[in-house]
Amino acid sequence: KVKNYGRKGFSFYDDSMAVEAEYRVTMIRELRQGIENGEFELHFQPLMNISGNLVFAEALLRWKRPSQRIVPAGEFIDFMSSLPMMTEVGVWVFDSVCAQIQTWKNEGHWRSDCAIFVNISPKQFEDEQFARQVKQTIKKYDINPQQLVLEITEESLINNLDRVHGQLMELIDFGLRIALDDFGTGYSSLAMLQKLPVQFVKLDREFINDLSSSKDTYSIVMAVIKLCHILSLEVIAEGVETEEQHTILKQLGCNYFQGYYFDKPMEAAAFTQLINKSESAEECEKSPHLKVV
Ligand code: C2E
Ligand code: MG
Ligand code: MG
Ligand code: MG
Repeated sequence: KVKNYGRKGFSFYDDSMAVEAEYRVTMIRELRQGIENGEFELHFQPLMNISGNLVFAEALLRWKRPSQRIVPAGEFIDFMSSLPMMTEVGVWVFDSVCAQIQTWKNEGHWRSDCAIFVNISPKQFEDEQFARQVKQTIKKYDINPQQLVLEITEESLINNLDRVHGQLMELIDFGLRIALDDFGTGYSSLAMLQKLPVQFVKLDREFINDLSSSKDTYSIVMAVIKLCHILSLEVIAEGVETEEQHTILKQLGCNYFQGYYFDKPMEAAAFTQLINKSESAEECEKSPHLKVV
């Protein structure tokens, strides 16, 4: 309701401006309280390889507001990204992922060939200390950097390609891998893929959505996958919801799959059970994608 403040109707303009301003102030206060009260948590969504085995997971932020349903990141992250608190929350997210991996390791649930994908907000790159802080956290929890993949968006690169490139190179030298998230939306350019030090490309959900209904989308996805493979990048399809989408993507050579068709994002405890089950399947021997580090 707040989004509809009009650019045309002057008579409503002031009113809705006030409503929007009030909404912003309330949201900022509640998010801030949420941080202080520890209302944020991470859910994990599996990524499957072509054999259907769990190989990775993406950490996704959730806001557990008191006596309300759990709010997914999609409903507040754009708003938060415009605020200084995004940096603080981003640091918390990365720290929590490392802490979680350490816990899984200590409790014997971790698979050394697994990696967790972590979303990094463009705001986080504005911090000169970003790369150094990431490395410090990894050392603090004694994590193998191979077990972390940073998900970045092209938005991070637009204003500060050189600096972000430098930070990414530093982290890659340290052993982390990088995924380009939401590929195909916004400012995506194929030329950028060549310049970027990324190892994975995540095809945006929009493409997957239209895959079976639009011939053009099908052709674009086919071309993007081919191009990525030429550039030695692995392709992940996000938002895979149907068997049909999965089948088409497999035929097109897509490397990994993520979506409701396999699993929804879940609490750490549920993911722990999944990872335990996946271990007993001995897929490590079967799949060429799984390298034990
Ligand atoms: P994303 O990184 O592209 O993450 C995928 C989003 O798609 C997630 O929404 C996930 O729950 C949802 N999803 C997964 N499979 C399916 C499917 O089959 N169908 C549909 N319809 N949706 C699916 P979520 O968790 O609400 O996150 C939205 C966005 O918020 C993320 O998009 C990411 O850009 C951002 N985000 C999430 N967690 C974090 C975080 O810890 N830090 C930062 N900076 N951003 C985050
Ligand atoms: Mg992501
Ligand atoms: Mg994405
Ligand atoms: Mg997306």
